[in-house]
Amino acid sequence: MNNNIPYPPNPGTETLDPSDWGKIRLLGHQMVDDMVQFLQTIGEQPVWRKPSDAAREYLQEDLPQLPQDIADIYADFKEHILPYHNGNIHPRFWGWVKGTGSMQSALAEMLAAAMNPNVSLGDQAAMYVEKQVVEWCKQMMHYPQNASGLLVSGASMANATALIVARNAFDENIRKEGLHGRKAKLTLYASNQTHSCIARAAEMLGLGTDALRHVRVDSHYTLDVGHLKECIARDEAAGYRPFCIVANVGTVNTGAIDPLETLVDICKEKGLWLHVDGAFGALARLLPEYEGTLRWLGYANSIAFDLHKWMYLPYNVGCVLVREGDTHRNAFSYNADYLTHHERGFAAGPEGMSNYGPELSRDFKALKVWMALKEHGVEKLARLIRQNIEQARYLARRIAQTPGLELMASVPLNIVCFRYNPGFLNTHELNLLNREILMQLHESGVAVPSYTVLQQAYCLRVAIANHRTTTADLERLLEAVLKIGKQCVKFETAT
Ligand SMILES: *Cc1c(COP(=O)(O)O)cnc(C)c1O
Repeated sequence: MNNNIPYPPNPGTETLDPSDWGKIRLLGHQMVDDMVQFLQTIGEQPVWRKPSDAAREYLQEDLPQLPQDIADIYADFKEHILPYHNGNIHPRFWGWVKGTGSMQSALAEMLAAAMNPNVSLGDQAAMYVEKQVVEWCKQMMHYPQNASGLLVSGASMANATALIVARNAFDENIRKEGLHGRKAKLTLYASNQTHSCIARAAEMLGLGTDALRHVRVDSHYTLDVGHLKECIARDEAAGYRPFCIVANVGTVNTGAIDPLETLVDICKEKGLWLHVDGAFGALARLLPEYEGTLRWLGYANSIAFDLHKWMYLPYNVGCVLVREGDTHRNAFSYNADYLTHHERGFAAGPEGMSNYGPELSRDFKALKVWMALKEHGVEKLARLIRQNIEQARYLARRIAQTPGLELMASVPLNIVCFRYNPGFLNTHELNLLNREILMQLHESGVAVPSYTVLQQAYCLRVAIANHRTTTADLERLLEAVLKIGKQCVKFETAT
């Protein structure tokens, strides 16, 4: 560190504003032009490029002490940062579960950043925008009027927030005494396909991962209700105190949907909190064809879902909803002298956001959601979700028809697990082969699926939350898998 920071030439006149507003305007226009070009032609680029040595070196420079021209920094950005993107903006990215974003949302982000509100309290438009977006999210999930919600960084935080509400609702003393005051240990239940963020939430809640019971699944990877009941009965007999069931609507591995109706009944009968991790799957609630399965979402005590996955919004934004708003508020609200609500002036306005979650300072992530819902309308977004589901089914059918390819799980939503299987290799060899195929797919830049392991079998995993994907893109994936697979097998058998 340089401890001899020189005084400014004219003390008291420095600012971070541009010295030449005209120049920054031109640069800003250039950036918009470049980004429009970039996204418009993204499909012609490789899905993924390994960050160059030069880029990695560039990104290890020391702390800058002196100013640089922003135009030079932007040139460096275009050379060393932009080409090495995540790939999720590309039509052939189907790894993990990642949404695509859009040019319009990038512009919304710019508007939000320029306004730069702290969306925590006050009589300011950003508060009303977020409250409106939360109302719209409640409507999407068919939640009652008195439900509450909050935009958060993603489903991990949404799940943790909901589980804090579930824990605090369980016993009014928990906020004060923590878990120390409880004689019986609290336990929660979720299928063994549940996302790791639920185990992490159990740690963050002070319950520990031992408190999370991993319930078995059936052949479609949905929660086995018989085993759930056994687990609960065993825990009750042993003096534990079950308090919550976490249901999956769209597991991360295969998109499986747990039997919601039965879980609603069990929770009602046992006085347990029903939380739904619907990170991507909950948005299928927008489709009439899923109403029979998903209308039970409306009875869950809380729901967590992402808007940066299957609503195609840019990172990061997720939503937590709690069916009874009062319970939500009771879990988090605080009175602090410096945060109290006033009758008039800026400190009036909507109820403070920190009554609904652990964060105080918050960004204006609501704006991009608000703009996208208004621009497209929820019906179009629903059609895109349906399109992705139909693409997944198409891919599954093509895999089932194609010799050398093997479908590894049923396809209830937008996730397809499969592998290349020439028919004469054992499980271990198939696992190595498919892992090699995956790496070559990535390195060739043709497509980025991800991977998972189902019953010891390494699978290629395609999760389509991408509004740019076409059927032709899926055909290119299959072609590439077959070609790479054949080459690998030929190479192996030749050596
Ligand atoms: C992605 C995902 C999460 C975690 O969500 P983030 O937005 O990455 O925090 C949790 N559960 C499921 C089922 C997911 O797919």
